[in-house]
Amino acid sequence: MMFTDYNTLIFDLSQEGHTAYDLPSLEIEEYDLSADLDNHLVREEAANLPEVSELQLIRHYTALSSRTFGIETGPYPLGSCTMKYNPKVNEDIAAMPGFANVHPLQSVESKQGALQVMYEMQEALKEVTGFDAVTLQPKAGAHGELTAILAFKKYFQEKGELEERKYIFVPDSAHGTNPATAAVAGFDIVEFPSNEKGMMDVEAVEAAIEQYGPETVAGVMITNPSTAGVFETYAKDIVELIHDAGGLAYYDGANLNAIMGITSPGLMGFDAAHMNLHKTMTGPHGGGGPGSGPIGVNDKLAPYLPAPMIQKEGDSYSLYDPEKSIGRVSGYYGNFGVNLRAYAYVRAMGADGLRRVSEDAVLNANYLRAELKDKYDMAFPGYCMNDFTMTLSRQAKEDDVTAKDVGKRMLDYGVHAPTTYFPLHVDECLQWEPTETESKQDLDYIIEVMLNIAEEIETDPEMVRKAPHNAPVTRLDEVLASRKPVLTYDREAIEAQYEVFKETHADLFEQEDQQSPGSAKA
Ligand SMILES: *Cc1c(COP(=O)(O)O)cnc(C)c1O
Repeated sequence: MMFTDYNTLIFDLSQEGHTAYDLPSLEIEEYDLSADLDNHLVREEAANLPEVSELQLIRHYTALSSRTFGIETGPYPLGSCTMKYNPKVNEDIAAMPGFANVHPLQSVESKQGALQVMYEMQEALKEVTGFDAVTLQPKAGAHGELTAILAFKKYFQEKGELEERKYIFVPDSAHGTNPATAAVAGFDIVEFPSNEKGMMDVEAVEAAIEQYGPETVAGVMITNPSTAGVFETYAKDIVELIHDAGGLAYYDGANLNAIMGITSPGLMGFDAAHMNLHKTMTGPHGGGGPGSGPIGVNDKLAPYLPAPMIQKEGDSYSLYDPEKSIGRVSGYYGNFGVNLRAYAYVRAMGADGLRRVSEDAVLNANYLRAELKDKYDMAFPGYCMNDFTMTLSRQAKEDDVTAKDVGKRMLDYGVHAPTTYFPLHVDECLQWEPTETESKQDLDYIIEVMLNIAEEIETDPEMVRKAPHNAPVTRLDEVLASRKPVLTYDREAIEAQYEVFKETHADLFEQEDQQSPGSAKA
């Protein structure tokens, strides 16, 4: 095989003796490390690594990179994820040697610039969230949730109420990380079905406090706007009920992109919130990280924040451990590089700019929603916030075309699918979030694509069911891939998997004699 095709792995290109680099010959005596290692750590055979030239290597990965889909390929309206464009200037700033080469173990005096960036970012996020203190340490939204809920725990412990306060209330529209966080921190979860407006129900919360007893309530976790794109108009009332019961209120700030400069978790009365800087503030997003999930808290919880915190005295910056700190939640100071990119963004936008971001994000989502609502059923009535949810239950029933089929068909038009099958309480749903960085032309293109697909569902549902047709790989068997993943280079296992796939997906192979025979293998 000469060139990378759809089904070539880098191992297939390997030929003994090919290398992509040359190291200068060793100037010191070779040292046999195995003598210092425990036997079980010593490898008997050399690792099986591909041997390819630099050009082969570059071609292979360039080919792979052109087959993936990113925000720089086309629209990526993944609801709840805020896949906005990340300005390149962030990268320039993060690459400045003074930042790129700073080491966390340097003396405080020699890293004043880095500390200043972190301090000023904390201050900016205090403004955005309406809180009294911010830590940049958590490395993702979920990590921020855990940090805050551990602070809740310590707060109750100090008051001698931890034993009793065991329930955390979570609406069914919540991201899975909310109940998972509460459970990992040792609390029991009470789930609340959303009402017909898609909101958490104030009366249901009141009834639950009555039923379980106010002394058992540890708190509530609310995402606002919710993952369904609905503004929880009564969040403040729910927070008051929880506070009256002696509990604490957590705000999942993943959808902060809808409210910056307009309202804030602090104004809504919450005690703590996380922000996803890789969503709202143009940190790199996708590929599993790195992310950043700072949390803001009010005075009640500030003493419990993780150590160390950054303070400014006169003109200099230093570190301190909060009085009753829950301890460390991350090595050193969190993901500095991501926080720095977000800082560059916040400084470039300014307060007015951030407000404009939220206004445009909400406007874009409402424009899409309004243009699509005649052909697609919306899950909830009224205007939406930064994202909205549609349901394809009708199409599933009448035409046997599912949300997944439509998502796959969108790829043929160069538009990434919205979030599918989330939030969990809406059947056959697609959750959309165009973000503010999509232009009107691109929004109009998305609308055209969706109106085309609506027509295709009626005229050729079979074709839609088999989409994508123009993507590098056809329909994948996601269940097979997650149940029996082949994660190392094992040609035989891959071939065997492919045979299973062919048998269970005969329909895909009857189609026009496959544009690329091995494509399903990828
Ligand atoms: C993305 C998201 C999270 C989790 O954030 P990560 O940074 O992925 O850990 C939590 N809640 C909501 C609503 C989200 O959209």
